Amino acid sequence: MMQELSTLPTALPGAAPPPAFHVMMKPRGAICNLDCTYCYFLSKETLYPGSRFRMSDDLLEEYTRQYIEAQAVPEVTFAWQGGEPTLMGLDFFKRAVELQQRYRKPGMQIHNAFQTNGTLLDDGWCRFFRAHDFLIGISIDGPQPLHDRYRVDKGGKPTFGRVMAGLELLKKHRVEFNILTTVHAGNVEHGLEVYRFLRDEAGTRFMQFIPIVERANETGFQEGDDVTDRSLTGAQYGEFLCAIFDEWVRRDVGRIFVQIFDVALAAWSGLPPGLCIFQETCGDALAMEHNGDLYACDHFVEPAYRLGNIQEIPLLEMVGSERQRQFGLHKRDSLPRYCRECEVRFICNGGCPKDRILTTPDGEPGLNYLCDGFKRFFTHIDRPMKIMAAELAARRPPANVMRLLAEEESARQRRFATAQRNDPCPCGSGRKFKQCHGRNR
Ligand code: SF4
Ligand code: SF4
Repeated sequence: MMQELSTLPTALPGAAPPPAFHVMMKPRGAICNLDCTYCYFLSKETLYPGSRFRMSDDLLEEYTRQYIEAQAVPEVTFAWQGGEPTLMGLDFFKRAVELQQRYRKPGMQIHNAFQTNGTLLDDGWCRFFRAHDFLIGISIDGPQPLHDRYRVDKGGKPTFGRVMAGLELLKKHRVEFNILTTVHAGNVEHGLEVYRFLRDEAGTRFMQFIPIVERANETGFQEGDDVTDRSLTGAQYGEFLCAIFDEWVRRDVGRIFVQIFDVALAAWSGLPPGLCIFQETCGDALAMEHNGDLYACDHFVEPAYRLGNIQEIPLLEMVGSERQRQFGLHKRDSLPRYCRECEVRFICNGGCPKDRILTTPDGEPGLNYLCDGFKRFFTHIDRPMKIMAAELAARRPPANVMRLLAEEESARQRRFATAQRNDPCPCGSGRKFKQCHGRNR
């Protein structure tokens, strides 16, 4: 369990805010038209009893002004999420982009990222997204039976058909989109099938795979060490990623972009992993509720991690507060020795603190539930990653890895074809060919 923010001091003089940070805005709070059984956010409705769960226009303006003012970088992204943000209606977002233009600093570029379940999209939404260059994240868990396993509506009915209709509208209007796939007990054994579906049938070039590690408790908070049976296991997650990687690295590099592969390539190239879960510290990806309450992270929208309300405390002061700094540092400072000595720590960094519910083999708490999977995956991709990183360093396309691996494979096949019975087996097992792969020749 992370140290609760409420036990930490509030803003200290001299605590500097980061030059840039990210807020995931939830203008309708946890309200959604669907009822995905694994959703970690639906239960947050109970934090605001009696609320209408609608961000007011005044608050939108205040947030826009402060968010832009607080960023010391030339590009700013507004991230909209939920619940389901389309339930705010299109007029709210028309006003949002007007306000962004009103408060934009000279030379500043503003982007909008919008995460949706896709079921309420129509031509009007898509024309708007296209006109204002919104990047849409749409949630699809794979082909129909896999998607419908947990992604159901309030009546328990499947949603695949409606989501795919929304996706077609995005494509028709040439809206930029990526697909966010949650990986859970229902689809984790079907990695290649999911990947090929997203690539060939959904037609996306950009994918993210988010593992479902769902705590089994009544509060919906990050409490307790048990997970639900919808959660995957670490080992399953590792196999899922390896299966997809093996196909990707042989045919799709430079054409299909899988977030965790890109993040890994950055790390193998000596750059910081560009995703909070794999960074050494975190704390610059926050979440804001419909009423202006700011929380340390989207996965810690809980009273103990509430930093304050934007209408009472300036956004920048909350982001730069000692409490938030400690939240981010705790990720590094609580890392067990087992992780600190791990050979893939440079990319893993122990993963997200919300999933650190296991005990290490030597009895220290704080090991990530997904550790097996991280280790398996990051070890598996080491060699191709080294090849791609070397290509990048030599200013050549990392996609060259596909040709190099294909040449290696043909050479290996030739060695098998010409091996004699008593030769060492070309597979490298150390056994004679006749006792290994040549047994059936
Ligand atoms: S707690 Fe996890 S999800 Fe939240 S910012 Fe840190 S690493 Fe990212
Ligand atoms: S792979 Fe496991 S041991 Fe290694 S850093 Fe990640 S969580 Fe820690």
